[in-house]
Amino acid sequence: MKKTTDTELCDGCGKTDVLVERDGNEFCADCLVIVDILASKPNLLNHLCTLTGTGDPAIRCGAAHGSSRELPDVLDAVRYRTRDREQNTWYVSISEMEGDPVEIFASTAFDRDQHLQSRISNLTTITRLISLILRHIFLGEVLTLDKTLKQLRRSSRQKNDLPDMLSNVLSNYRKDQSGQRQHRAA
Ligand SMILES: [Zn+2]
Repeated sequence: MKKTTDTELCDGCGKTDVLVERDGNEFCADCLVIVDILASKPNLLNHLCTLTGTGDPAIRCGAAHGSSRELPDVLDAVRYRTRDREQNTWYVSISEMEGDPVEIFASTAFDRDQHLQSRISNLTTITRLISLILRHIFLGEVLTLDKTLKQLRRSSRQKNDLPDMLSNVLSNYRKDQSGQRQHRAA
């Protein structure tokens, strides 16, 4: 999968770092090492947990593997041309995997139209969140609050537009690794 170069929240530990995509998740270098070990030596972490008396014995490492499908680098997509109630033309693309919709995008020919900027960011929010849900339904991708926040932030085109506003409020419910809620300064 492609590498992302901008620093964002790791889906694993939640720290802000340069992330690498793996099966729809994005991980920092530390988490990626663990993920790679889980993939290549699924029993090793359990064994190490047992040896050192660490970790949660109820968690079976690798048990979740196999239930999720991986998003390939190349996907077929179908593009639909459609209009909204104000007769603006929009292009809606659905990426398909074995006939299932796994991603949805929307674009307009009037991307530079200032009046459409807020509507574009709102539509981007909708399609990003739908894509997240589709990957959950059809690929078994695990949903988290941080992933939801990440998609909201990526949908924002201007500070304090609607997706930015929503992600700021919802960020109050993020938890650190000890399960404590992280209250961010507004
Ligand atoms: Zn991490």
